[in-house]
This record gives sequence, structure tokens and C-alpha cells, in this order.
Amino acid sequence: MIIIKYLHIGIDDTDSPDGMCTTYLASQIINKFKDNGIELADYPRLIRLNPFARFKTRGNGGVSLKILNDDKSNLARKIVLSEVEKLSMFDCDNTNPGVIFYEGEITEEMREYAFRAIYEFIEIDEAEKFGKSVGCEIHKFKKGRGIIGSIAAISLPLSDYTFELLTYRSAENYGTKRQIDYESVYLMDSETFPDTFENIDYSEDYIAIEPKTPCPVLYGIRSNTVEALEVAKSIVKVNEPVVDYCIFKTNQHTDMHIQKASDIASMKQFGCYEVVGEVKNKPTIIDGGHMFFYIKDESGEIECGAYEPTKNFRKIVSHLRPGDVIRVFGGIGEQNTFNIEKFQILELNDVEYKNPICKCGKRMTSAGKNKGFKCKKCGNKIESDEKVQVKIDRFLETSKFYETPVSARRHLSKPLCRM
Ligand code: ATP
Repeated sequence: MIIIKYLHIGIDDTDSPDGMCTTYLASQIINKFKDNGIELADYPRLIRLNPFARFKTRGNGGVSLKILNDDKSNLARKIVLSEVEKLSMFDCDNTNPGVIFYEGEITEEMREYAFRAIYEFIEIDEAEKFGKSVGCEIHKFKKGRGIIGSIAAISLPLSDYTFELLTYRSAENYGTKRQIDYESVYLMDSETFPDTFENIDYSEDYIAIEPKTPCPVLYGIRSNTVEALEVAKSIVKVNEPVVDYCIFKTNQHTDMHIQKASDIASMKQFGCYEVVGEVKNKPTIIDGGHMFFYIKDESGEIECGAYEPTKNFRKIVSHLRPGDVIRVFGGIGEQNTFNIEKFQILELNDVEYKNPICKCGKRMTSAGKNKGFKCKKCGNKIESDEKVQVKIDRFLETSKFYETPVSARRHLSKPLCRM
């Protein structure tokens, strides 16, 4: 039996808010590989890690590449290291690239490490110790924080995945307004959704494929299939040069960051969870436009937030009533508030208690404490203090999911069109 051996390459922390993108660096490496007859054994991977990681630039993404481990693998290593040295944003304090080379099969402990990098915080020393223990060749630039994400990027199993097509700009256009024909983006969305998704936020008239940073990316389209990406790319028109493009296999939009919590008390700060709870109070909006309410269960309670950037989602949240039972998905942030990404209605409290209706048809009013009700119209009185149950119409629907708009969605959040 012939055993095929692979070289796994992990790269992270090469960019800064002022420029670059680790995916662009990867696409440059892939081009150099092609020039030298080095082929990838699978799609390059873009792996999103812990959304709460302290030092992230934007979406906490690392990249991994897999090639045959043959007589060209030393050349491949040289190409990777020289591109990282050439293109990383070393001037930024917060850019600390890390590169990993790993020969062989990904082991169970590496897979576990990768999930820890999504759920928890890992220190550089810890990542280095772990990487060495499993036989990774480690290259740290400056502090080398990128090794944390690089090891995870090669190790994460993708039981669910999507693809992202990224097109890249010509260097002289970096930082200038992107010349994307928005009409063609609307057309692309209408022709390819839901095979592609997250293209446009219709509620905000926001073109989500266009980054807002000065990075080399011209636009990025997300999809379940590579075929849909090719179609989408043929529809989107731009008025500036596209110097390159690359399709990444990714854990974006898979909910891989979400852990099932058995109850509210078991959730920890900076973790992302799915948990069931009963709405305790009516959602209220505070200055700044953030909306909050509590959910509770037998173990405790937690404040849930729908923040201002979630825009119209807050209107939906405002329809929740005490007694509703919901399943919420999201993460516990800095303020210890559960930041909602989406929720499902499990039970709706559609009962309200009102004063009884008099024989004459008018709703009665209280006759005073423990004195029953009286009718202002006909003077009728009843002794009982008991209000009557009235069924009310609800805007929200049982079983239905409600999600934040595209413009406010995390890279890892699974949109409803994928559920
Ligand atoms: P972009 O999305 O543009 O690629 P980014 O948001 O991915 O940028 P990076 O520049 O990659 O940001 O920085 C993220 C840093 O956090 C990296 O050094 C990475 O190794 C590290 N990191 C990733 N996951 C964790 C984790 N679970 N704990 C601690 N550090 C982490």
C-alpha cells in the first residue's frame, strides 16, 4: 500500500488594520508554488478562530495549505517563509506572524487543540509547547503570536464548511474606493442566492461583499459550492483591475464557535453558546440604541443584548414577552452580556390577564384592593378579584428562527439560509 505524505502549512497574523490580508499572502504563495510545479492537495483553507481573541485584526482568521511532501517540499517552505517576510505588516506592533510546517496526519490531540482555539484563549508559549510536542516546525516572527492560529488552521476538521472567493486589487488601488458595479452585485445575488449568501444586506442597502478596510481584497463572495462562486464571479462587474483571485474552503457560517450549554449557569465569559431560557422581562432600549432583556432558567439568569448595529433585528427582539421560551445563539462578551446572533421561539406566552367584561359589554375597572370589579357604564359590580385570561396575537411565531442582519453578522455565524 502506498502511503501519501503531506506537508501542512499554517500561516497567521501577517496583516494590520492598515493593510494586507493573510488570504492575499496565501494566494501569492500559491502562485509561486504553481510557477515551481508545486500543487495543492486540497483547497487552501481560511479558518476563523475565537471571535473574542484579544489581538485579532478583524475576523481572527488563519490560513492553511496542504501539499504533497515530496522533493519539492523544502522549496515550498522557502517560498512560504520568504513571502511572509516580504509581505507581512511588520511595522504594526500588533502584527506578529507565525508559520507552521507539519508533516503527516492530523492527530486527535491536534483536532482538540483547534477546537480550543475557537472556544478558548491560548497563550503563545502554550501553542509553541503544543506544536513542538506534536512535531510541528515552528517559525515565529517578532512575538510570533500567529503560531496560535497557524496550528489551529492546519488542525481543524471541517465536518461542515463553505467556500469564499476572494478577488484582489492592483497595489496602486489599495486604500481607494473600490470600483464595484453595485447593480451587478444585486443581479449576482438574485441569480445565485441561496447557493451564495451574505452578499447584500437588503434592510440596510449594504453591499456585504465589499470590505471596508484598505486591504488588498476587492470583494469576497461566500457560498456552499465552488460552482456557484464561478457563476457569481462571472456576473459581478468591476471598473478596476482584478489582479488575482483565490477560492478558500472555510469554517465560516458553520456555527462552529457555538457550544451547546446545558443551562445558563454553565456558560462562561468569552464563550459562544446555544442555550434555552425563559424571557424574564420586556426588552428595553437604552441610550445608544442597544436593547437588553434577561433570560432565566433553574440555574440562573443572564442579560441578553441586541446591539445598535443589529438595526432592525432589535424591532423583532422588542416583540419578546416575559414567559416566552427561546433558544438563543451568541457569545458572552466584555460586559458579561449574551450578545445574540440569532434565536428560535420554543414557546410563546400568548396569554394576558385582563379585567373581566361586564354584561353590558364594557371592560370593568377595579373597585379597589380586594373589592372586585365595577362597571363604570352600568354600575354593575362583581366581588371576585380574579382577572380573566385573554389570548393575544403574537407577531413572533413558534419554532421560527430570527437572525441579525448580514451587516452585523459574525464570520462564523450560520445564516438561516444554511440551516
Ligand atoms: P484578518 O481577519 O484580517 O486575517 P485577524 O482578525 O485574523 O485578521 P490576526 O492578525 O490574524 O487577526 O490576529 C489574530 C491573532 O490571534 C493571531 O496571532 C492568532 O494566532 C491569535 N489567536 C487566534 N486564536 C486565538 C486564541 N484562541 N487565543 C489566543 N490567540 C488567538
